[in-house]
Amino acid sequence: MMALTHGFMALAAAVLLLPALGESAGPVLLAAAFLGGLAPDADLVASHRKTLHFPVWLSVAALALSSLVVVTGSPAVFVLTVAVGAAALHSVSDVLGGSAEREPWNPVTENGVYNHVLGRWHRPRRYVRYSGAPEDFLVCLAFAVVAIDSGLTAPAADRALLALVAFAGVYALCRKRLAAIGSAVSSLVPTRLRAVLPTVRVEESETDGTTVDVRFGR
Ligand SMILES: [Zn+2]
Repeated sequence: MMALTHGFMALAAAVLLLPALGESAGPVLLAAAFLGGLAPDADLVASHRKTLHFPVWLSVAALALSSLVVVTGSPAVFVLTVAVGAAALHSVSDVLGGSAEREPWNPVTENGVYNHVLGRWHRPRRYVRYSGAPEDFLVCLAFAVVAIDSGLTAPAADRALLALVAFAGVYALCRKRLAAIGSAVSSLVPTRLRAVLPTVRVEESETDGTTVDVRFGR
């Protein structure tokens, strides 16, 4: 699933859960939920769905932090709990998506999400076949509607969220052609400039997900 789908999923969970728990869903907590929901996908530049995806440890950390909130009543710990809980939700829900590989719409691996406790990958359930699939965009849109419709987000935030939904739509439209678009754009870069620009190669291995190789000069 797209990082934005996870961000909106966490935001939707926050606007529904926080008022139900008798908490005011203020902008800081909502931002913590959204950013915590995005965060694990920062490992796109490392070993995707392994380096920063911890379905077990993030869930355990969220539970431990929740009890700390009950004991201390600290607002700062509460913000951290929401962010960690959002990252845990991301890591666990990625198992419902496709595999972490170059063309997940033509899957050759069964690498859904890595479980560091078991030391193995969870099989992808493929309810959302791949990040940027049409159904991924629909799920993203649905969570965004829940978040915006709650009326808990400020009008300025709503405009930013709608812009992100539009971005997700464009990404979904281009998803299968991203590699071709990337090489077409790089072929437009003049040869002399290309010699000084770093080359970035993204490689998907069968065991470790994604690695990014950056080289200077050609
Ligand atoms: Zn992810």
